[in-house]
Amino acid sequence: MANCENCSAPLPPNSIICGYCGSRNDTDLKGIHRFTVTEPDTERICPRCTISLQTIDLKIDGTFLIERCERCLGLFFDVGELEALIKASVTHVYQADRHRITELNNNLRNNDYPTAYIKCPVCSTMMSRVNFGARSGVIIDRCPDHGVWLDGGELRHLLEWVKAGGEILSKKREEEKKKDEERLKAQKIRRVPYSQTPPPADFDLFGHDIKSQAPDIFKVLYKVARWLVR
Ligand SMILES: [Zn+2]
Ligand SMILES: [Zn+2]
Ligand SMILES: [Zn+2]
Repeated sequence: MANCENCSAPLPPNSIICGYCGSRNDTDLKGIHRFTVTEPDTERICPRCTISLQTIDLKIDGTFLIERCERCLGLFFDVGELEALIKASVTHVYQADRHRITELNNNLRNNDYPTAYIKCPVCSTMMSRVNFGARSGVIIDRCPDHGVWLDGGELRHLLEWVKAGGEILSKKREEEKKKDEERLKAQKIRRVPYSQTPPPADFDLFGHDIKSQAPDIFKVLYKVARWLVR
């Protein structure tokens, strides 16, 4: 867990703003990668601060460019780049640390921003909100054409979640769900013969129409009445 650079208080997993002293911490890239700012500005605009984003080079397998907002420390990844970064940063995770994942989930606090749709830094259309890996609890903003936006602190949370085996657990649960569904389907197929057994016949062994022989309640009552007055 990261600590505030200013007062050393522990930071919540999905926030970069210290709850004690209020200072903003650059936790996402610190300690993960050395990076350089290659260009001061791009055409891309921060959806939070509406200022130009910086292009930075993470230098993973050569040049690895992403955009970052200098003010709010949000990050923008082109399509596929976030997955590539995760792959490069987190290796050798073979099993899920349920304890750590629970800890990460329990430590979630509300994001630093109100829940609202924000604009794609490239095309300015509203992005959709997606829970990364279906269960990470990190809600990323996604433009299907251009990429994903992560608010400051979200990358760190995501990487910790992946390191703890969150993706593995997620996949496992997905597979279990699929198996359950298949099992249910198989049971339904097995049950078909029962539901297809024909309804009781309308005719008895001698070919008499059973339905027409059904006792007519009025006839019965009439017979009983006649028997009584006899
Ligand atoms: Zn602090
Ligand atoms: Zn910003
Ligand atoms: Zn876009």
